Amino acid sequence: MPVLFVGHGSPMNAIEDNRFSRTWREVGNTLPKPRAILCVSAHWVTRGTILAHVGHQPKTIHDFGGFPAGLYTQQYPAPGAPEMAEAMMSLVRAPVSADTEWGLDHGAWSILMHLFPAADIPTFQLSLDLARPPVEHFVLGRELKPLREKGVLIVGSGNIVHNLRAMRLDALAYDWAEVFDADLTTKLEARNFQAAADYQMLGDVARLAHPTSEHYLPVLYPLGAADERDELRFFNVGFDLASLSMRSFVLQ
Ligand code: ZN
Repeated sequence: MPVLFVGHGSPMNAIEDNRFSRTWREVGNTLPKPRAILCVSAHWVTRGTILAHVGHQPKTIHDFGGFPAGLYTQQYPAPGAPEMAEAMMSLVRAPVSADTEWGLDHGAWSILMHLFPAADIPTFQLSLDLARPPVEHFVLGRELKPLREKGVLIVGSGNIVHNLRAMRLDALAYDWAEVFDADLTTKLEARNFQAAADYQMLGDVARLAHPTSEHYLPVLYPLGAADERDELRFFNVGFDLASLSMRSFVLQ
């Protein structure tokens, strides 16, 4: 299976027909049908533990506030993948605990409802342990790589640049946003995937692009699980609201 990183941006992309959601539908049509989907989303964070959801029917979590009512009635009724989650837990060296409380947060379902609108593929999430340094997230991704052979699509969902306080309507992207986005793009095009874990070396640019790390770290899972023969393809290149990079990629 390929690996995928999707910049999810605003939750409204779940229900809007816009250039981002249309591209997600197109990309979904180019992907082989997975046996299961493993999603690492910016919106399931833990500290000091890693959780994997093992429910049979993960609930759709509406983890946002202040949006139109139509967003709160959305459901993504994909079945869970408890057996695949157990198989995943035995692959990684770090201890991963089984979770039955979570489900699918909007980092997962807002994109999956476009990528796989039939909601018929068993799907489970792995939490982001913010107590771990970036390189450990890359290593976790590398340990997940064998799942690709088992038909699991590994999806990271976050944003390559994400600063909500700096968001502005009808504005061009900030210089620091362009610099951060271009720096990662250069690393990926040079196939220097592990270098993506060193993003904090960019100093102020990194602090502006990611005042907090949770929207960046999901990028390290598909990169860790990448194979040197994979072809890299970007999609949804560009910014939304001046401080959100929507740049996404597939490695296939
Ligand atoms: Zn988000």
